[in-house]
Amino acid sequence: MSFLKSFTVAKKGRINIRIYRWMSLFCINFLFFLSYRFDLQLLEGTLSGSRFLGFHLIDPFISIQMFLAHYNLHINLIIGTLTILVFYFIVGGRAFCSWVCPYGFLSEIGEKIHTVLVKKKIVQSHEFNYKIKYLFWIFFLFLAFFAGYLVFEIINPVGILSRAIVYGWSFALIIVAVLFLIELFFVRRFWCRYICPLGTTYGFLGRISLVKMKRNSECNHCGECSKVCLVPHVLSESKKEAISGDCTLCGRCMEVCHKNAIGFDIKIKELI
Ligand code: SF4
Ligand code: SF4
Repeated sequence: MSFLKSFTVAKKGRINIRIYRWMSLFCINFLFFLSYRFDLQLLEGTLSGSRFLGFHLIDPFISIQMFLAHYNLHINLIIGTLTILVFYFIVGGRAFCSWVCPYGFLSEIGEKIHTVLVKKKIVQSHEFNYKIKYLFWIFFLFLAFFAGYLVFEIINPVGILSRAIVYGWSFALIIVAVLFLIELFFVRRFWCRYICPLGTTYGFLGRISLVKMKRNSECNHCGECSKVCLVPHVLSESKKEAISGDCTLCGRCMEVCHKNAIGFDIKIKELI
């Protein structure tokens, strides 16, 4: 019960952003499911490529792979990719990870269980240098280029889960299960932190996007936020007030900060 409670109830007086994130995630993925099952034509396809009310939406990393594999991009692919890039430029690059991605949700649950297991000294957590994800990003693009097809999509847990939500069970879910087990017993947020090229691509966009987390002068660098952060390097490395790039805008740092020293900074206000 207390485990469940720690998932859903924010400390007294603090906003529980997780509820809003999960609602967003659930609604988007459920809309994919409903559109397919009842032919609603609202949000057709999967997170890899879809149409929202007829407008094409394509994951940017898929488009880069497509270009490298086939040396051309269909006009709908370009439009769909640009639409997604503009959207995440406005709402924050890696907002996709915390507010949309179904594997992000699963991984967050795994992280919670992993933390409990580590506290009880049942398992040990292993850490790596987060920069290896840039090597994986290049590696998967090389694979697309040399193989002439999207090799990464075979193991991409985001695509696998999104397809499973819409079309139902497939054997590819075994890959997701294996990743989940690695995250439970060995490495906290293994896929999201060290491998996922989708997150890395959105992270590039996050460097220039209009919504970011920002610290104010109340921050006494106690480090509580780093403990809950999916990508703690963004907090420990940030010399500036605005936290950029890899931040997933999950708001967990904001929930735990006892000084209310961190929050969303929305530059859209300044643009209007
Ligand atoms: S890093 Fe990848 S798998 Fe993790 S939440 Fe982001 S897009 Fe999803
Ligand atoms: S800095 Fe805060 S909002 Fe960004 S990923 Fe870390 S905990 Fe989430």
